[in-house]
Amino acid sequence: MNEKYTNLLIKKIKENNSYNNNYSTLLKKPNYDYSDLTVGVLALQGAFREHIEAVKRCGAKAIQVRLPKQLSLIDGLIIPGGESTTIIKLIEKYNFKTHIYDFYKSNKPIFGTCAGLILLAKEIVGFNFGLGLIDICVDRNAYGRQIDSFEHAIELKIDSKLNYNVKNLNSDADKNIKKFANNNIDINNILIKGQNNRKFNAIFIRAPKILSFGKNVKVLAELDGKAVLAQQDNVLVCAFHPELTDDLRIHYYFLDIIKKAKNMINFN
Ligand code: GLN
Repeated sequence: MNEKYTNLLIKKIKENNSYNNNYSTLLKKPNYDYSDLTVGVLALQGAFREHIEAVKRCGAKAIQVRLPKQLSLIDGLIIPGGESTTIIKLIEKYNFKTHIYDFYKSNKPIFGTCAGLILLAKEIVGFNFGLGLIDICVDRNAYGRQIDSFEHAIELKIDSKLNYNVKNLNSDADKNIKKFANNNIDINNILIKGQNNRKFNAIFIRAPKILSFGKNVKVLAELDGKAVLAQQDNVLVCAFHPELTDDLRIHYYFLDIIKKAKNMINFN
């Protein structure tokens, strides 16, 4: 039942949000080329298709991961939102657990959104499952029931490495930006600043709450004083659904983590 509601809600949110965000037209490409990266999205249940689309729009390759052996084909793994109780059952059924641990130990980044965050947490209130790869304690559904799902603008404390396509700036306000560009002022710096300051429209669906976290966890965004985007080394988690908006900043950030991890692997 929960699963059905989640899917309906995701559909509705996508209709409202899909590609109507002006900023997306401004995005050209990031400073980095991500085409050499392959990201796997755990495709056992939940919002995996939307993550695949987001990763592809960032310029990286994306594949659905349905079998443990596919982990050897990817540089980073996304565990999507959905039903954590269902996903964990399937993880166990398909014998994913040890393979995900090996993946983690080989320094490959993992990004968990919503149910994915729950699955990666070290502690889940009242439950004894999960992978325990990030030192957070979470309460499932603590932001309310399905009916209480909501959107909220949050500030991201991450570095944006995005560039912009000057040619796509058409509105009156954008003309000033073009003027800067024509005067050879560094347009990227100006725009990146604006981009960084812009809030992220975070969509929460029966979201888990991070109650506490260990000292090695970096908080990258908060809502009402609680961490909603957090990172510990190569593990990134968020309590909301970045794949349901048009804003790719968090996916780009994950790709940057992968790039870094890959270089460390290559150069060590
Ligand atoms: N509350 C869900 C769970 O416990 C997560 C919801 C979501 O991923 N949107 O798994």
